[in-house]
Amino acid sequence: MNETALPRAPLRIASVQAHVFRYPVKVPVRTSFGTMTDRPALFVQVQDEDGAEGWGEVWCNFPACGAEHRARLLHSVMAPLLQGQAFGGPAAAWESLTRQTAVLAIQSGEPGPMAQAIAGIDLALWDLAARRAGQPLWRYLGAQRSRIPVYASGINPQGSVEMAQQMRSAGHCAFKLKVGFGAERDIENLAALRRELGESTPLMADANQAWTLQEALSMAPRLAPLHLGWLEEPLRADRPWSEWQQLKAQAPMPLAGGENLAGDEAFDAAIAARVFSVMQPDAAKWGGISACWPVVQRARAAGLRYCPHYLGGGLGLLASAHLLAAAGGDGLLEIDSNDNPLRSALSPQLCDIDDGWVTLDDETPGIGAPPDVAGVAASVARPVALS
Ligand SMILES: [Mg+2]
Repeated sequence: MNETALPRAPLRIASVQAHVFRYPVKVPVRTSFGTMTDRPALFVQVQDEDGAEGWGEVWCNFPACGAEHRARLLHSVMAPLLQGQAFGGPAAAWESLTRQTAVLAIQSGEPGPMAQAIAGIDLALWDLAARRAGQPLWRYLGAQRSRIPVYASGINPQGSVEMAQQMRSAGHCAFKLKVGFGAERDIENLAALRRELGESTPLMADANQAWTLQEALSMAPRLAPLHLGWLEEPLRADRPWSEWQQLKAQAPMPLAGGENLAGDEAFDAAIAARVFSVMQPDAAKWGGISACWPVVQRARAAGLRYCPHYLGGGLGLLASAHLLAAAGGDGLLEIDSNDNPLRSALSPQLCDIDDGWVTLDDETPGIGAPPDVAGVAASVARPVALS
């Protein structure tokens, strides 16, 4: 793990803009708590007063109507606090935005959407800083490596074997199935995947907070013969740590979580509870790079594996890839298996999967070539007007 502090790059922000797109999907993406019938993406474009540009992305998968709301928060609440202002670097901007919106977040009951908007701005500012420095973001963050291992995520309960076969043909060597659709169906699906993939292929399961403690305790031994790489969010993220510890004591597989944690205190409590073997902060959902970086360092120092959570468009995925490269360790990057050009067309280097690994660009500054967001949107997705 690179123990150095994040680089500082003073900046004066000229503009912050939000761009919302929706890609209508043929096959809905199912999780145990909801279904996505289109794929939203909220991209953030920042410019500094020298004309340098950066791109980020805000988590906005749920509720389905929420992308436009977050874009409006970004335009009406966040942008006025940034434009024309000077900061010592992206981390200082993250801290300032978080502090200045803290009371409003409580008053409005919207700490989540606000943290997500700030996270996307932070990713854009890091991209800008790296572009201005003329370095790929992974190198700018101090990484020694540009190759990272990946896994195929978002595999639906319907057609899971076919999806895994397609992903294996595309170069994937590790797979994660969505569960929480009834014990028998979950186990049948996982067993079919295990037969298809063989014993040595990493296979994980994500319950998306579907189970009570009693349900999870009864599932854990039934899942044991499937040798899961990890079991993700078997319980609700807000259940007491004592429940998680009870499950941990009886679960034969590593437990994973973190996508629904926000704030230093929450992550520190999770690390201290010693229930997760795999920590999965989502840099587009809370913290951006500025606040996730120290969380990841502390998690890795405690012996946890860092596997970034990510299930959105291509720009947040690229930022997550660069962050993982810089963080080091043996964690895997989560790559959605479902059709979504807002992801694939904007992160082409992450579509080139070689035996379970991807290689980040060694020369192009920032997260990669400046994204043709307008072009991709015009060809595949529906731009959403915000006015
Ligand atoms: Mg998950």
